[in-house]
Amino acid sequence: MSQDLFIKNIRRLYTPLTADAEDPARPVHEVANAAVLILNGRIAEIGVERDVCRNAPNDVPVLDAEQRVALPGFVDCHAHPVFVGERSHEFHRRNAGTTYQQIAAEGGGITASAQALAEASTEEMVRQSLPRLDRCLLCGTTTLEAKSGYGLVWEQERKQLEAIGRLRQCHPIDLVPTFLVHSVPASRENEREAFIEEVCGRMLPAVAEKHLAEAVDVFCEDGAFAVEESRKILMCAQELGLEIKLHANQFGHTGGARLAAELHAMSADHLEHLSDEEIAALADTKVVCVLLPACIVFLGNLPYPRARKLIEQGARVAVATDMNPGSSMTESLPLCQTIAAVHCRMNPAELLWAVTYDAARALRHHHRIGSLEMGKEGNITLWDIPHLEYLSYHFGAPLLTHAVVRAQVVVSQGRIGYGN
Ligand SMILES: [Zn+2]
Repeated sequence: MSQDLFIKNIRRLYTPLTADAEDPARPVHEVANAAVLILNGRIAEIGVERDVCRNAPNDVPVLDAEQRVALPGFVDCHAHPVFVGERSHEFHRRNAGTTYQQIAAEGGGITASAQALAEASTEEMVRQSLPRLDRCLLCGTTTLEAKSGYGLVWEQERKQLEAIGRLRQCHPIDLVPTFLVHSVPASRENEREAFIEEVCGRMLPAVAEKHLAEAVDVFCEDGAFAVEESRKILMCAQELGLEIKLHANQFGHTGGARLAAELHAMSADHLEHLSDEEIAALADTKVVCVLLPACIVFLGNLPYPRARKLIEQGARVAVATDMNPGSSMTESLPLCQTIAAVHCRMNPAELLWAVTYDAARALRHHHRIGSLEMGKEGNITLWDIPHLEYLSYHFGAPLLTHAVVRAQVVVSQGRIGYGN
């Protein structure tokens, strides 16, 4: 398979630049009549087409962008794309007035996903997840986080991480695995301390030793893990050389955001409830604040995070899907951008940074992806839009025409193309 590609005839190309990474104004670099040359999977030349053409070898495959807009491949830095079954009935029951707590008490919620996963083979997990990864590509996502966390007990968590590992081998999307410590299994509720000991003494060392995940995430909320429990797990992960992140402050001021700042986590995710002091702590420590607006729409009863205040204070802000069967059933980062535009009042430049460079920073992969610059991986998307501002304005429509992952054209004319 060719690792080279010359993309020509781009109407406008937009990208963040590493040189602006600390600029709070979040400037976007724009090139009209652009072209990109990818050699060995990395961007070798980028700029105005007539300049790039001079250096393009004759035998490189050509992709004609036909005057479309080019953007960096999106980075979805918070997602749970590997699961079994679906929970549409819970969504509609909630809409009819049943509370999440009632549904959970009846064996729904995460317990339902854990049971479906426990009954499925690794092959079945892979089979059910593949179409989701395709849909991510069709929405412009070329790098996707994949969390475990539906196994709960180690045997099942390991199975889920193995499924993620197999998906990395057989699907072209750039998958970044995370070990999520989601909740104490119901069967172990009376022995929480022993379960946390097992997480620290057995699960985390196995994850680190076998390179099953790059980071450890803890669901730090009432009903999941308390701050002290989360601190213990996350410090143990850090000692093993794993990156750390938290589900924090979704349902209240639970202390997760402060803990993320204290431990210098890669990211603090959700953040629907933030005080001025919590915002200052996240901004000072450069923890990436990952906002998940689709989850708020889906659950219907949470406030939107204070994105303007975060941005004013100089915090790094990313936007992600939180794709999962219970609280955010979507692969679409463009949809998340529209919701963040309306409800978090983020502008088009901030939104582009939030789903590219700063999202890559939330995974600590910004040295290789997240912007279109020389030396970075050739992950590029083409869109049927006149300019950047149009993307979040025209919502819910399939506007992507092409996606390129490391020079491989994986979506062509709006259709999955890597199998051909
Ligand atoms: Zn999540």
